Amino acid sequence: MNTEFFAAWIEEVTAAVRAGRDHLTELDAAIGDADHGTNLDRGFTAVGEALAAAPPRTPGALLVLVGTTLIRKVGGASGPLYGTAFREMGKAFGEAPEISPAELSTGVDAALAGVRRLGSAAEGDKTMVDALAPAAAALSRAVRDGLKPEEALEAAATAAAEGARATVPLQARKGRASYLGPRSVGHEDPGAASTALVFGALRAAAS
Ligand code: ADP
Ligand code: MG
Ligand code: MG
Repeated sequence: MNTEFFAAWIEEVTAAVRAGRDHLTELDAAIGDADHGTNLDRGFTAVGEALAAAPPRTPGALLVLVGTTLIRKVGGASGPLYGTAFREMGKAFGEAPEISPAELSTGVDAALAGVRRLGSAAEGDKTMVDALAPAAAALSRAVRDGLKPEEALEAAATAAAEGARATVPLQARKGRASYLGPRSVGHEDPGAASTALVFGALRAAAS
């Protein structure tokens, strides 16, 4: 997977966030402050501008620019968390011009570690970690089992979507939604839902 592949991924994410903006914001209206869709839409619009202004030459540089732009443009919890995720993945790729599925898996693990370090959420706390952690695990398993790249990305996307759906019955223990206590039960976590879009976009970029 080369720089064009990762640029295509980010374009797919941008389109999915645009299309899902109102849904993500509705999810956040139920258990947060109704801005998750608009936050990410604003962030990825700025990402598109930053990439067009100075097209990066390696996958790593591209993802670091994505992350830095998200941190700069998106306020709230999700900007620094998503920004850190993309930056850590980019840093894990170094200056390699081409990323193997195994290296992608290492990069997603680094993104997860960064999100955990910054937000200190565990799986089951009803956050984006509940989609990101199963996606990272599925990708790592798929690579170990020698699946084809498209199959590995399919497995990651499915795991992220299932992880997001599985946040519905959980009570939030991190972020704004945790202020609601038991009233956060019965709603999908917006950040987990957007993380599922990010991995769905990765599958789309590979097909
Ligand atoms: P804000 O809550 O500041 O308005 P957003 O609405 O953009 O920010 O993002 C909310 C999402 O951020 C939540 O749905 C959750 O998935 C994620 N989130 C919040 N706090 C944490 C945390 N400590 N660790 C991981 N993810 C978190
Ligand atoms: Mg919010
Ligand atoms: Mg907010």
